[in-house]
Amino acid sequence: MTRVTAQQTDPEADRLPRRRPSVVVVGGGFGGLYAARRLRRIDGDVTLLDRGTSHVFQPLLYQCATGLLSEGAITSPLRHLLRKQKNTHVALGEASGIDPENRTVTATRIDGSTFELRYDHLVVAAGMRQSYHGHDEFAQYAPGMKTVDDALAIRRKLISAFEMAESLPTPEERRPWLTFAVSGGGPTGVEIAGQIRELATRALENEFRAIDPGEARVLLFHGGDRVLESFDARLSAKAQKTLDAVGVETHLGVHVTDVRADAVEVTTKKDKKVTTYDTRTVLWTAGVEAVPFAATLARALGVQQDRSGRIPVQPDLSVAGHPNIYVVGDVSALNDLPGVAEVAMQGGHHAGAMIAKSLQGERRYSTPFKYRDLGSAAYIARRHALLQAGPIQLSGFAGWAAWGAIHIAFLSGRRNRAGTLINWAATLASGTRRERAVTFGDPETARQPYT
Ligand SMILES: Cc1cc2nc3c(=O)[nH]c(=O)nc-3n(C[C@H](O)[C@H](O)[C@H](O)COP(=O)(O)OP(=O)(O)OC[C@H]3O[C@@H](n4cnc5c(N)ncnc54)[C@H](O)[C@@H]3O)c2cc1C
Repeated sequence: MTRVTAQQTDPEADRLPRRRPSVVVVGGGFGGLYAARRLRRIDGDVTLLDRGTSHVFQPLLYQCATGLLSEGAITSPLRHLLRKQKNTHVALGEASGIDPENRTVTATRIDGSTFELRYDHLVVAAGMRQSYHGHDEFAQYAPGMKTVDDALAIRRKLISAFEMAESLPTPEERRPWLTFAVSGGGPTGVEIAGQIRELATRALENEFRAIDPGEARVLLFHGGDRVLESFDARLSAKAQKTLDAVGVETHLGVHVTDVRADAVEVTTKKDKKVTTYDTRTVLWTAGVEAVPFAATLARALGVQQDRSGRIPVQPDLSVAGHPNIYVVGDVSALNDLPGVAEVAMQGGHHAGAMIAKSLQGERRYSTPFKYRDLGSAAYIARRHALLQAGPIQLSGFAGWAAWGAIHIAFLSGRRNRAGTLINWAATLASGTRRERAVTFGDPETARQPYT
């Protein structure tokens, strides 16, 4: 273990009379970034720790996975985003331990070595990961969609499947490669299912000689009795109509009960009827759980995680008994607030404001967090999206236009916004998707899509 820089632990530092206060923010997603930005003017040092180098705009991961946008278009380097914030230091490492008594967070570097960060105030915004509901063995065949690596693995699987089908001699051999199964009918499942059909019917149209990519079957499996259950039933019905129109085969009231390299098994919830589909591509979007650091944190702070592993917080987003530790975003549990970007952004901002006020010696720093619900949106297919914001409900083209405007507005970086707009316009006009490079130079990675 090594100790470095002013805000990292130094036993001598305690004895120095005028040590600047330090704030550590774990996670550079929506919650962490907004917390760090709110702290830009404090008279203290801020360290943003993330296990990746970039802020990821998760709402567009599925467009990266289906070759529409590059990974660069939906990510922004954290160092670049915070370059003008002189009191802020970005550290690459995975939070792996915490000592609340000595106020230190232990982080693991990419080479496995560790370092410590001292904090006076801590914000944890480490997010969630995909959950396989006790079937972690599914993960090797059914990637989830939470990270850029996931999106790139999915892209590789999708593009490879069409290429494999093209190279096989008989329709029987091709069929499993042209069958795509998606588990989970929430926004991510619906979005990726619709996008695979668009990829097959528009982007790849006329590019193959042996196969017709348009024959690709996309199966969407969902346990509930309607897709997009977080939306009003009327909007969800509209989404279903669009999915039907683009050729997604939706199966409701079913659970995926087995995933293998060449098949997926589903069981109906009602009468336990089991059906197996031959497929070489299964994608998993059915459920999330807290990242492993949440368990470490809960143990150290003496709090009980909820069923998804989230950390319960007080109304001001601090952890009970630890007024200097805030947990925000997806990994915090408060009043059933949804796991959406807006909750994380507002929560991060709130925690940052609480800390800034406390550092200024303001007594009123324990203000309850009030979430302002700005609504939610989901993309279904080309020219079809849903938007629900209070009494406003949009679908079809109007929903799609609103969805586009919102996503562009929240995408970080001017360059990403401009690039994404150009890409969308080009894809709208011509149907093409450029982000499809897959190489097979390395036998290890070449085999990955198929094992
Ligand atoms: C595919 C997809 C589509 C979505 N679509 C929408 C949408 O349309 N609208 C919407 O509002 N929301 C959407 N969401 C949800 C939204 O993205 C999340 O609610 C939001 O990202 C939560 O922000 P967060 O800061 O809590 O966590 P995240 O954004 O997940 O950030 C967590 C950060 O913590 C880092 N981290 C994790 N563990 C550690 C550790 N131990 N040490 C250091 N760093 C760590 C991660 O690398 C990551 O950068 C979508 C999510 C996904 C996955």
